Amino acid sequence: MKRQRTFLVRRTDVDPAGGNAGRFASRQLFRWGVPSAFARMLGVLCVDTREPVFALTYDDGPDPDHTPRILEVLARHGARATFFVMTDRAVEHDDIVKKIIAGGHEVQVHGRDHESMLTRGVGEFWRHVRRARRDLESVGVRPTLYRPPYMQFRRSQMMAVRLSGLTLALASGDSRDWEHDDEGAIAQRGAAAVFPGAVLLMHDSRADPQTARSEAELPRFDRADVIDRLLQEAAVRGLTAVTMTELLGRGAAVAARAYHRGPR
Ligand SMILES: [Zn+2]
Repeated sequence: MKRQRTFLVRRTDVDPAGGNAGRFASRQLFRWGVPSAFARMLGVLCVDTREPVFALTYDDGPDPDHTPRILEVLARHGARATFFVMTDRAVEHDDIVKKIIAGGHEVQVHGRDHESMLTRGVGEFWRHVRRARRDLESVGVRPTLYRPPYMQFRRSQMMAVRLSGLTLALASGDSRDWEHDDEGAIAQRGAAAVFPGAVLLMHDSRADPQTARSEAELPRFDRADVIDRLLQEAAVRGLTAVTMTELLGRGAAVAARAYHRGPR
């Protein structure tokens, strides 16, 4: 496998509003690059490239209501996306998984359930990821990327991800599409987080409605309409959506120390 070059930057350097996006090479913390053994333990936030592409990533699906409609919009725009799925849902809706793959997109691991990995010890974490991986293999998918729920994990768990051969895939920006809002507003927030090499987090479902803040409304907006508007806006700026794997082939991975410190 080709060795991926990795730049380690500060988390704030990846903030699209911070103005440093696209200048990662000059901001890396290790002047001579990150040693490869260490690089695989970092979470990838985005990619250092000047090419007009970004990774569109969807979490928490597949969802029988939203995912097929989102796939239609992606096909219309010639866009590709990565779906980080709940693997129990993927097994239940293997027809949707096949549709995702047939559309030229990719399917990767988000987890068997949406519990934060901070509640799990290393052994339990390891078993969880291994079983999630097997779930996907049972529907014909060989995952290479893993995105933990809430993007929460510990350093010891990163090592387990590395040993399992998966790459820890995070994101550089999102549209806050886990709460209800107007389609135009969500699309605008998403488009504002897109730059060459960005990894945009979106949701084709919401896996954990029970954790919503009591004052927040659960999403009931049209997710297909949101991505239609967002991709139109990206096209105006000359940007095309690709899968995360494809984006990783376009330049050095940009990582930050993103794990949680604390007990266990
Ligand atoms: Zn999620």
